[in-house]
Amino acid sequence: MSDDEDPDFEGLIFVTVPQPADDDGTTEWLIRGGRTKSNIFHTPGYPAPVPKARLPNMVIVKETAEMGMGLFATCDIKRGELVFAERPLLVSPCFIPEQDFPHLTDEADERERQLFRAEFESYLKLAFQGMSFEKQEAFMSLSNCKSKDSFGPLLGIFSSNGYQIDLDDDSESLDKYGAIGELAARINHSCRPNVRQEFDRASFSLRFYTKKDIKAGDELFYCYCNIRGTAAERQAFLNPSYGFVCVCPSCVNATLASDELHSGFASEASRLGDLFPENKREKEAVDRTVLESMIELEKRMIEEGLEGEFSFDQLLLIIGMGYKSLGMLAEGESYTKRCPKTRFDGPEASEDDA
Ligand SMILES: [Zn+2]
Repeated sequence: MSDDEDPDFEGLIFVTVPQPADDDGTTEWLIRGGRTKSNIFHTPGYPAPVPKARLPNMVIVKETAEMGMGLFATCDIKRGELVFAERPLLVSPCFIPEQDFPHLTDEADERERQLFRAEFESYLKLAFQGMSFEKQEAFMSLSNCKSKDSFGPLLGIFSSNGYQIDLDDDSESLDKYGAIGELAARINHSCRPNVRQEFDRASFSLRFYTKKDIKAGDELFYCYCNIRGTAAERQAFLNPSYGFVCVCPSCVNATLASDELHSGFASEASRLGDLFPENKREKEAVDRTVLESMIELEKRMIEEGLEGEFSFDQLLLIIGMGYKSLGMLAEGESYTKRCPKTRFDGPEASEDDA
């Protein structure tokens, strides 16, 4: 057994996956420790083919008016559909100096932080050299919002475009990974996102699903920040991390009420959900005022562009059950039908994908 096949090996490992290569492309993968590698290689079905969307080329990369390149739908896509899936160009641990070196404080250790970044850049360079020339070109064409900081070009691109993915079942693990996908990296930010992301370990691919119905020509948006923050909290994260000020309608038109909705929709949906139905005796109808509060929350979430959130789907199901408990079967069915089936299958089904 070589070192990097040993689950207890704790060094840095470089590997191209999958091996043997299939028609769906390969990923240069930097791994911290043999355990994560062993977990992936023993995932049932690994290495599976990358899942295919209903049609080929449902998205296209195009220039946007103000946000550089963006990703656009080429056809109408229903809520909950797979839009595309791809093997990332690169997957690497998200080394975070503040976490890896908690002794580094702001002013004292900028030099140490710079050394650390230079070292990280050299690891990324090794992975980059493993890519084909075409993939290197694709990687270098991505945006870099860190070009003015003490980030090397590869680390700058990695930090600007990476999606955080979970490769480990241990949610407490500090080993968070980032994945750069050629199409994924073109999706711009909005606090009214219309796609969500999942990482499929068996096929080692990034998958994107619609959170809302999308029309041909619409731009795809992913929320880079925590959607449960107020407008000020969202800007306070986005600006230093990505170097832009979000001008989505939810930020531009933010009010006290919309801020309260962003920070409170998930707990409010779950509070109302607890009032029905499991906690009620069988056949007892839901309280009409609870049902009205749920419908009011549904309306406010749609106005705020939050109808792609997992809590919203839960709300639809509960309202559906509420109507049915009152004998209003057609109304109930119209709600439950709106909830996409794929929503409750994926690994992220237990929480909102903010
Ligand atoms: Zn915004």
